[in-house]
Amino acid sequence: MIKIDNLRFRYRDGGFRLHIPELSVGDRDRLAIVGPSGSGKTTLLNLIAGILVPDEGSVLVADTDVTALPDAERRRFRASQIGFVFQDFALLDYLSARQNIYYPFRISPALKLDAEAREMAQDLADACGIGDKLDRHPNALSQGEQQRVAICRALVTRPKLILSDEATGNLDPDSKARILELLFEQSHKAGAAVLAVTHDHELLPRFERVLDFAQFRERVAS
Ligand code: ADP
Ligand code: MG
Repeated sequence: MIKIDNLRFRYRDGGFRLHIPELSVGDRDRLAIVGPSGSGKTTLLNLIAGILVPDEGSVLVADTDVTALPDAERRRFRASQIGFVFQDFALLDYLSARQNIYYPFRISPALKLDAEAREMAQDLADACGIGDKLDRHPNALSQGEQQRVAICRALVTRPKLILSDEATGNLDPDSKARILELLFEQSHKAGAAVLAVTHDHELLPRFERVLDFAQFRERVAS
């Protein structure tokens, strides 16, 4: 699902550099990413999603080199192939929760917002406990509720790759477990791979692999 080869990236206006010699993620892999704040976890997810473009190296997602796509195509590729739960949610304030969940359908012509997709959106929202709040705008939702909207938006297209940046960060322990369960259940149904940045070490045994950014080396989860 993901193949990174000798990737180098540097922010233009900062000293941070990221070098990833090699990273492979299989079609149904569940990989957790841990590491200190500022170590480049969000940067890596943005590079995989094609939001950032590396200075060197390639990023293959489902056999497509995202670094080689023009901007508009990269955006459409992301909307149709990748479900991304952003660390700061990235909800649009002028849209209702429901319209935020539908957003990928606006971006990608390959996606059709049909009755099935609407039902999927409602089912996900119900499963997250926000099913009765979809007409509200983000500013009328709590942080945890906004996070759930972001999770529904990431899952509604049944993507083959789910990127999650601390998706459980603003939730209480019960909700954390439930949301992770939902992520895994949906990824299992869709045959999707999951890459999840998390600070919740108690969730790590649920993943097949853990990538520790502190040393940037992999170890197998116990
Ligand atoms: P993490 O998600 O692991 O906390 P990030 O990937 O967000 O880390 O950030 C890695 C480093 O890159 C940090 O030092 C951060 O300050 C820097 N950084 C992040 N975004 C930008 C940006 N847009 N411009 C310049 N530097 C950035
Ligand atoms: Mg981050």
